[in-house]
Amino acid sequence: MESKRSVLLIYTGGTVGMVKDMETGHLAPFDFNNLESQIPEIKQIEARVEAISFEKPIDSSNMDLEHWTRLAGIIKNNYEKYDGFVVLHGSDTMAYTASALSFMCYNLSKPIILTGSQLPIGVVRTDGKENIITAIDIASAYEGSRPMVPEVSIYFENLLYRGNRTYKYNAEHFEAFRSPNYPVLAEAGVNIKYNREYIFRSSPEPFETDTRMNNRVAVLSLFPGISEHIVRAALTIRENKVLIIRTYGSGNAMTHRWFIDGIKNAIDSGLLVVNVSQCRGGGVTQGRYETSYELARMGVISGGDMLLEAAITKSMHLLGKGLDGSEFKRNFQQNLKGEITV
Ligand code: ASP
Repeated sequence: MESKRSVLLIYTGGTVGMVKDMETGHLAPFDFNNLESQIPEIKQIEARVEAISFEKPIDSSNMDLEHWTRLAGIIKNNYEKYDGFVVLHGSDTMAYTASALSFMCYNLSKPIILTGSQLPIGVVRTDGKENIITAIDIASAYEGSRPMVPEVSIYFENLLYRGNRTYKYNAEHFEAFRSPNYPVLAEAGVNIKYNREYIFRSSPEPFETDTRMNNRVAVLSLFPGISEHIVRAALTIRENKVLIIRTYGSGNAMTHRWFIDGIKNAIDSGLLVVNVSQCRGGGVTQGRYETSYELARMGVISGGDMLLEAAITKSMHLLGKGLDGSEFKRNFQQNLKGEITV
């Protein structure tokens, strides 16, 4: 008989791991050494589950490059010991962490699934139990020696998404995530239905991480009437390397002379300017309209159908690797981890 698959549960913080402290009545992280007392159903899962927790669990609004590095390190150090990984994470910045991890991990051959919940595990109507149990189920799902989903993904409310294709779109619904530009990887109903044609194959190469990240990245969101001063300030931040401009529709921006000249000067002085649309579905096609033609001509880098979360973390990753100029541009527009349609 095949031995049981093993899953490492990594608790970073967020609502999911909270229970009511009996003395104070406040919500506080529960002790992960007593995982089974909170989720007795874990005992019935076909996999062996072990858990570790960040020493100080955090609300995911406090996630930082250092936490991503720590997380990638935990996975790397335990990679050979487990068949899959489930990362419990606050939903607020989960899409950023999933994107960052996807760029940091090379040659994946095991599932890394992020999940969390809108309601704490210690609340009767929690969505956390189902999310955790099914995420463990998927993380330990193998067909012979092949894992079903060797990717960095997010599981939330019955759906499994490619992590770097997601954003959090709802602060109220249990179904909190969307992946507008890539199909779901799996759907959990009575059975778990895997959409195999959209899932990466395992890499035969040895697993590696590259956790170098550089946060000299800024985002400028356009809106009608935005002031010249604000735009100029964003284009001339001395410490900055990449400016992501959130444009309209298929990548359009105003054609005012001061705007075009400002971008041109910034690019000439070495700033990498990236075009990502404010529309979450679809993407940037520079040159379709007059209002984006100029941007393309000046060397603004198209983000294609990448989401902002993926564009920010990809920029950090490429800068972290020391890429600049045309090397950055070439890599940024390439499909590295399934984050962009090319
Ligand atoms: N603020 C919480 C967090 O992101 C919300 C959640 O856990 O879903 O950590």
